[in-house]
Amino acid sequence: MNEDTGKLIVLQEVDTEIAGFDRQISERQQLITDRVQSIEDKELKANDCNQQCEELLQKQRDLKVTLEDSQALIKERQNKMMLVQTSREHQALLKEIEDNKKLIKDSEEKLILFMEQIEEVQKESVELKNLSKGEKEILEEETAKVNKEIEKVNKRKNTVGKKRKKLSAGLKPNILKRYELLLAKKAGIGVVQTINGVCQGCYMSIPPQQFNVIRKGESMNICPSCHRILYYKEEEAEAVAG
Ligand SMILES: [Zn+2]
Repeated sequence: MNEDTGKLIVLQEVDTEIAGFDRQISERQQLITDRVQSIEDKELKANDCNQQCEELLQKQRDLKVTLEDSQALIKERQNKMMLVQTSREHQALLKEIEDNKKLIKDSEEKLILFMEQIEEVQKESVELKNLSKGEKEILEEETAKVNKEIEKVNKRKNTVGKKRKKLSAGLKPNILKRYELLLAKKAGIGVVQTINGVCQGCYMSIPPQQFNVIRKGESMNICPSCHRILYYKEEEAEAVAG
């Protein structure tokens, strides 16, 4: 096999391993991010509940004032009734008293409703706070655990990283540059095998003539579709068939 391609195959294996470490690290970090997000959501909801509660308490206070006004008005009109002379005046006062009695009744019903709503949002707020408190405790444990795991993965990544440094130093700079560009652009895969004349990077067929050249393995070959570096490795199935 072409010497440069041979070195690149090994380098690709190492880089795939490193990418795996990076994936493991980011998966663990995501776990923590999700947990933090979940706590924040609950705290925000608890705040909403508190605000709702404040608004309901204000409504309750306003309504009590209205209710007291109506009670005072009724008292005042009842006193006035004893002084009026005509039946028309009497009727008018009576209507006012009746209207305010109705208003008081409505207000009392609303007050009960507000009380129930206040209890409900207060209960929800307490529940949310308890939940987020529990999750915070779990988060603390999990963060410690995840940090340890990440540390382990990083150690292994460092070891492999040293291996990579050695390998890449053994490659011609222009070839290394080309490979690294492919790695960045092609989702971390720059060197791929061909199986039955098909590039395993993009799954396009390679023209037969080029495939013959790749089989010989004397030069470095590039996939005409995805531009990855190609190599041929005899497949068991092919060997039997051939
Ligand atoms: Zn390809």
